[in-house]
Amino acid sequence: MIEKTINGVHNQNVANPHVVVIPYPSQGHINPLLQFAKRLASKGIKATLVTPKHTLSSFSSLENVVFEPISDGFENRGSPEVGSEDLFLSAFKSNGSISLSRLIETHQNSAFPVTCVVYDAFLPWALDVAKAYGLLGAAFFTNSAAVCSIFCCVSHGLIELPLNPDQVRTVLPKMPLFKGNDFPTFLRKPETYPAYLTMKLSQFSNLHLADWMFCNSFDDLELKVIEGVQDKWAAKMIGPMVPSSYLDGRIEGDIGYGSSLWKPSSEKCKEWLKTKPKNSVIYVSFGSMVSLTQQQTEEIALALKQSNYNFLWVVRETQVNKLPKGFQQELCMTKKGIIVTWCNQLEILGHEAIACFVTHCGWNSTLEGLSLGIPMVGVPQWSDQLPDAKFIEEVWGVGVWAKEDDKGVVRKEILGECLKEVMEGEKGKKIRENAIKWRELSKKAVDNDGSSDKHIEDFVQHLRCNCFAKTKSNGFR
Ligand code: UDP
Repeated sequence: MIEKTINGVHNQNVANPHVVVIPYPSQGHINPLLQFAKRLASKGIKATLVTPKHTLSSFSSLENVVFEPISDGFENRGSPEVGSEDLFLSAFKSNGSISLSRLIETHQNSAFPVTCVVYDAFLPWALDVAKAYGLLGAAFFTNSAAVCSIFCCVSHGLIELPLNPDQVRTVLPKMPLFKGNDFPTFLRKPETYPAYLTMKLSQFSNLHLADWMFCNSFDDLELKVIEGVQDKWAAKMIGPMVPSSYLDGRIEGDIGYGSSLWKPSSEKCKEWLKTKPKNSVIYVSFGSMVSLTQQQTEEIALALKQSNYNFLWVVRETQVNKLPKGFQQELCMTKKGIIVTWCNQLEILGHEAIACFVTHCGWNSTLEGLSLGIPMVGVPQWSDQLPDAKFIEEVWGVGVWAKEDDKGVVRKEILGECLKEVMEGEKGKKIRENAIKWRELSKKAVDNDGSSDKHIEDFVQHLRCNCFAKTKSNGFR
């Protein structure tokens, strides 16, 4: 440990790096980036997570990660409305750049000047800010390596839109064979979500300036994909970014992400799950963003009712009105199911009563299902959820994909068959074996000397060397 005095401040950590982590402010992005901040902190790095003011209250205080507000320009306007992504992204870019610059300047003369900005790849402007101050910049990708690879090639013009599966095969030969419906919706139907498509492609716009690139996946999980794309997108796999107690257990007290944008009904869930036998409950969740049609909600409700399994279903407050009339009251009588508006998903998945996860296949949910060894039924809706469902079924064999009909609806009969298959069928047995295999490989990746752990260690060493060199050149020897 080096002891020096900087500007009169007694500092025991002159060569200790300080990383500022900045996630895109949605649950599916905050969780993995906050988890990365905790991993770095557990290795002795000072970590500050910066987030728009209106999300600050969603964080629990943590022993070794500090939270600081940043402006997204919405302080006095309330949260951005759904459908106004363009507006939000440009306001966050302009306000966030100024605000992040100020934050870096504030720390510049402190005992812990910022060494590196770890930014969500959705926010490439954060890298420009880091570089303007001569800092290290590390991009963090929150999708699978397969999905990132495809977007990377589209962004570099190697794959053209609309997508042609043969061209994808030629450019990314190690990727499993994609059919039209497997591709991310933003690429399959580029006209449907132009703001999101632009954002996904902009991840690669200044990436050549980044010192590091990370992806929330792990080497064993996407080995072939990673090999095939190294010359175009050389990201290091550092995942799964799931709280340590569910994996390696090396971070003491790390039993949850430490952020929840909605209040979870933890007690209610636990009390209800306690009344159910081991491996008897289907957990159903569509994450934080998906909005199902009323028809789709009804099909799911009927599939669950008719299948007669126990189920715990997260239906967000804004979606509850789509449930069939009288459905909730019926559940109160039969006790076969429970509906909550939000829960602590990991707590549920980790409960011994859970047998199956009906998921929209968001990347975090996919990794959580894999890490906890829970068989899955994929009901993907949009974005990267479709390729994730493909990998769940075809590549890792940890679940089945409940396919929609030509009207774009997953019918109750199809979902019912998938539930039966996973809960009781022959395929279900193999799926359970695979799920256990992937659970163990997930643990191995983040445990001491695992592939992800090694990549994080390399980063930590790089930060230390960089910080030490700067300290020396500033005259502290
Ligand atoms: N989640 C949760 N409670 C819920 C539903 C979801 O804590 O009731 C968490 C889940 O554990 C995951 C995140 O929210 O970490 C959702 O991320 P994902 O990538 O799966 O989906 P998105 O919400 O981005 O579509």
